[in-house]
Amino acid sequence: MAVLRWGSASHEGQLRAQNEDHAHAGEGLFVVADGMGGHLAGEIASEMAVTRLDERMPMTADNTLDDLVAAIGEANVEIYNGSVENPDQAGMGTTVTAIAVVADPHDGEVFGVANVGDSRSYVLRHGRLRQITVDHSFVQELVAEGAITRDEARTHPRRNIVTRALGIEPAVRVDSWSMPIIRGDRFVLCSDGLVDEVTDDAITAVLKAHADDPEAAAQALVDAANDAGGRDNITVVVVDVLEGDDPPDPTQEFDVIPLWADDDQDTTGEHRIVADPLDEGERLDEGERLDDDDGDGDDLELDEPPAAVDDLTTAIAATPTAAASDATAEPAPKRRRGAALARFVIALGVAAVLILGAAILSAWARSGYFVAFDDDGTVGIYQGKSVLWFEPTREATGSFSRDELDEPSVDLVLAEPDFESQASAERFVAERLTRPTTTTSTTTTTTVATTTTVATTTTTTVATTTTTTPPTTTTPPTTTPPTTAGP
Ligand code: MN
Repeated sequence: MAVLRWGSASHEGQLRAQNEDHAHAGEGLFVVADGMGGHLAGEIASEMAVTRLDERMPMTADNTLDDLVAAIGEANVEIYNGSVENPDQAGMGTTVTAIAVVADPHDGEVFGVANVGDSRSYVLRHGRLRQITVDHSFVQELVAEGAITRDEARTHPRRNIVTRALGIEPAVRVDSWSMPIIRGDRFVLCSDGLVDEVTDDAITAVLKAHADDPEAAAQALVDAANDAGGRDNITVVVVDVLEGDDPPDPTQEFDVIPLWADDDQDTTGEHRIVADPLDEGERLDEGERLDDDDGDGDDLELDEPPAAVDDLTTAIAATPTAAASDATAEPAPKRRRGAALARFVIALGVAAVLILGAAILSAWARSGYFVAFDDDGTVGIYQGKSVLWFEPTREATGSFSRDELDEPSVDLVLAEPDFESQASAERFVAERLTRPTTTTSTTTTTTVATTTTVATTTTTTVATTTTTTPPTTTTPPTTTPPTTAGP
């Protein structure tokens, strides 16, 4: 029987008037939810999520991980319906990260961990802090592709864009894990208001400084985030395992092979990322969404690439006890090692395909030239396409503005003709565009910019998450872009 000790703290931060986070810490259930949406709707959404989980997961019942996932699915429907039925709450949503003591057919009592969005669950074991959950955020996609580092993600201007949340669509995919209950483990659940302000190393130091008092540790982490700026609401739950299984040997814990939790996992992905080219540095206010229906045709929806997890997370997921919680598990270490190796080889193949795909995409996005008017009506020569985060770059500016051209020339430019090379685009501008009647001479001055095409993508590991799809209810179809949380 697990014996736990816990504490929590929450604060609106230094910039926000309201606290739209909600948390629950109690008998075997720990939840952090970070709401989003205007008119206090975010606060309503996060409260609905926490309340629903609390109702559905009483400590006395023999709840399973499936029950936890189902409860999150129900909360999703509840929030979604509230948002559809109440104009004041339109578009409200919430993240949710939850840890519950659940019954497991193989292991007796285990921790069930579930996550949707960019709030996080960590575990501190043997003095090392490891993130258990994988963020559903735009920057996590970039990290998974190797485009940016984890550290860069913390300060990325678009780090507030979440790619999955409760209440946005009639059904939601929930990541879930089951973990052994290990004596000495300390869990931390938190909203992004903590991790955007405080590094993992600093979080670790605070946790160690308050090793015997989870309440004090939670409060100290909230204080640290406020000291660092407190730009968002901050919520922290800290849970200590006082009684549980013996901890694994620290020297063996990291000697693991990436493990795919579920071979039958649905990878077709109802989940998509919608990338809308925004100016670098542009921020979306809370509740504001990316508009994928602006009719400019520059949005692209892609299936979600498998999310890479860092080595530490992999280590957790692949500890022997965690592996044994796999529903199909027959405790046969040798066979499992073979299977793990096979999965690793498959993963290498998948990674190779992803890298190749990313290289092709990036080459394609930068290929070709076209001629078009800019916002000021000046003729320009552009390279590339508007796709995902790629944007065409202006390579040259013609001497013409729109009102200096005759009618046929204006039509030619409006058609935005494509060219194989910049030279042929320049020739087009020089030879085909003419001024009305009294044109004397048409010289084209071009300023050529240098462009560097970067196609560096490294993908090393592939996800180790068990993803479960809760029952889908039929509700009016919607197309839903990602929503934003945090600054
Ligand atoms: Mn937040």
